[in-house]
Amino acid sequence: MLHTKKAKEVLRRLQEEVEILIPYAVPGEDLEVALEFLRTFKDDQFALGVIKDFYSILPEAREEALVKISVVEEKERVFLLLLSTSRHHHFYLINDEEGVFLGEWEQGILDEHVLAFFEYRNAESFREANSSVAACREYRPLERMNEEICPSCGVKAGGLHTLGCPVEVCPWCSGQLNYCNCRFEQLGVEELNDEKELMELAEKLERKGRVPYAKEQRPAFIAEPETKEVIFK
Ligand SMILES: [Zn+2]
Ligand SMILES: [Zn+2]
Repeated sequence: MLHTKKAKEVLRRLQEEVEILIPYAVPGEDLEVALEFLRTFKDDQFALGVIKDFYSILPEAREEALVKISVVEEKERVFLLLLSTSRHHHFYLINDEEGVFLGEWEQGILDEHVLAFFEYRNAESFREANSSVAACREYRPLERMNEEICPSCGVKAGGLHTLGCPVEVCPWCSGQLNYCNCRFEQLGVEELNDEKELMELAEKLERKGRVPYAKEQRPAFIAEPETKEVIFK
């Protein structure tokens, strides 16, 4: 019970901190929109931290309300998010410890380390793979907290991930299917280029037996597991 109380207290304080920041960060007419968005995430420690960072830093020093958080990439507990106002979209890279803004959507991702980490050859290939803001998956409140649902593709525990989901475990090497080399080795190719190869891979996976989602696979995002256990049950 103590943990539950403590965790709720942490959430409440975090929300209050952001509520104090918002009036300094957005013009009066956007205040309600900004606060409404904040309230959507009142039980989501991850999102509250992201929102707080947004209003603390105010990327490009623009005074605009945050209205959407999207997930562009995720790997090994590192997330490339897109934080959107009604007019601008800011890349935001975050791991367990800290977040950093990486410029705006129009410029794409230029940082070579970030590109390499998410396995893009270069800025151009990133742009090709992420051609529209609308195609980026919206972050759902509490998706990092509900263990029964895959934090990435949303499948329930015991179900099969959407093919391509970064959480899916590789049945050949038990690594992350999206990032190990098994898919190339199985097909005998350097990279996956077309629908036909994808279908072939899906068939091989089917034959081998795909690994359904289980909560043990979720990225351990919240630093305080003892609080996570109890607050959202
Ligand atoms: Zn999934
Ligand atoms: Zn593998």
